[in-house]
Amino acid sequence: MTAGITSSALPATQKLASSWIDGAPVSTSGSLHRVINPATGATVAEMALATPADVDAAVASARAALRGWASATPAERSAVLARLAELAEANAELFIAEEVSQTGKPVRLATEFDVPGSIDNIAFFAGAARRLEGKATAEYSGDHTSSIRREAVGVVATITPWNYPLQMAVWKVIPALAAGCSVVIKPAELTPLTTLTLARIAKEAGLPDGVLNVLTGAGHDVGTALAGHRDVDVVTFTGSTAVGRKVMAAAAVHGHRTQLELGGKAPFVVFDDADLDAAIQGAVAGSLINSGQDCTAATRAIVARDLYDDFVAGVGEVMSKMVVGDPEDPDTDLGPLISAAHRAKVADMVQRAPGQGGRVVTGGVAPDLPGAFYRPTLVADVDENSEIYRDEVFGPVLTVRSFTDDDDALRQANDTEYGLAASAWTRDVYRAQRASREISAGCVWINDHIPIISEMPHGGVGASGFGKDMSDYSFEEYLTIKHVMSDITGAPEKDWHRTIFAKR
Ligand code: NAD
Repeated sequence: MTAGITSSALPATQKLASSWIDGAPVSTSGSLHRVINPATGATVAEMALATPADVDAAVASARAALRGWASATPAERSAVLARLAELAEANAELFIAEEVSQTGKPVRLATEFDVPGSIDNIAFFAGAARRLEGKATAEYSGDHTSSIRREAVGVVATITPWNYPLQMAVWKVIPALAAGCSVVIKPAELTPLTTLTLARIAKEAGLPDGVLNVLTGAGHDVGTALAGHRDVDVVTFTGSTAVGRKVMAAAAVHGHRTQLELGGKAPFVVFDDADLDAAIQGAVAGSLINSGQDCTAATRAIVARDLYDDFVAGVGEVMSKMVVGDPEDPDTDLGPLISAAHRAKVADMVQRAPGQGGRVVTGGVAPDLPGAFYRPTLVADVDENSEIYRDEVFGPVLTVRSFTDDDDALRQANDTEYGLAASAWTRDVYRAQRASREISAGCVWINDHIPIISEMPHGGVGASGFGKDMSDYSFEEYLTIKHVMSDITGAPEKDWHRTIFAKR
């Protein structure tokens, strides 16, 4: 794919149906909603939002479609997903244009990461759909044949965030479909376009009507109604920790299973034997990807005292040269934040940092541009109890502290309620092994930070949630395990009956 696609490829201000229910666009009756390009403030699309009443229709559609899809053969489900991967590739330019215009992310990122990563994930699950595994069927008791059935869990309700709208939708929806589930997804209302397009092309790929439904609505009403709907079976969520806990509470009313991919505050540990240039380059890339609006972004650099001054100077210099501006220009490094309101939150946190011991080395300002832009920001010497070091900023902001020895480094890395991702930078194999063992996180990178791959799981511990997206491990969220135990003796009196009938 080339980074030549721009959102000007889209018609100005599309009038869209907010929802996709039972295989067709549905115009709902909620309040008027505008999807805004945060780089320009222009309206990209207008729609009436879905309402809680629409949740009933979408869930009913998914329930009605479930039996047929769950009983399709793995090969049939695989064929639909393989065709969807091909159609996603054929629609890559549209996906890129929609993603850039609704999020403001640089076209280079959408072209080389969001869209090809999503297509690869669909292709992976087209294959994975045909190779579910379980324990071998065998006579474990001696008197019975035991076998395992892995069955679709049912109707999946899923709620996704705005930072990687297509990828987050794909990570939730596609393994569920591969497992034989039907789905109702509520994308973030700021960024619904690519999720609606995904549902439309899934129908073209042969997905039966009702198996995938989309509701664009607000979190507090449609999201709550969906998570707490009596007739869903599992609730999967990607978003902030605070909202994830509300979703879990709503799902608990009916005892629904949940899977939560939540916030992060990833440590980036640089030991004194690290390749300093690689660590500097890696820290800038790892903290600024998607303007830092990435749950795994490097946010807490923890650096050996001997390297500290050179690391801070090096990162500050590279950050100060980053190009912030027009997302549609392939030479742009950073686009805007998702909204003016979110930029204000990031700017306020940076502004409060010096009062809590931090030193702003570079950035800390908004460039003179009309959109929600913010300069890459490095805050050194942060106090370990300061807000900017402990709380999720979700912007282009890296904090730095030093450590004294390896014990101190690993203590600081784990001094957070979050546990999504982390990295350790060292050329010492024993240090690398120790860091990967002792850092509490769903993923530990060694001498890199950010890469993900369809074959490997993504998901956190602690306040970062539980359960996995991507890889075969994600099937655990969408399948139930049933034990079938068949008597093979034919005897009316089973051997184990001696535990019940004392006199025989
Ligand atoms: P958010 O939690 O504000 O919103 C996420 C989704 O929840 C949206 O669709 C929103 O409409 C909906 N929602 C809001 N209130 C709700 C409620 N009461 N009930 C049900 N749904 C509700 O998150 P965001 O601002 O869209 O995204 C940023 C957050 O997502 C960050 O915290 C980031 O770390 C996290 N995130 C995590 C991962 C991961 O894999 N762990 C990936 C991407 C983003």
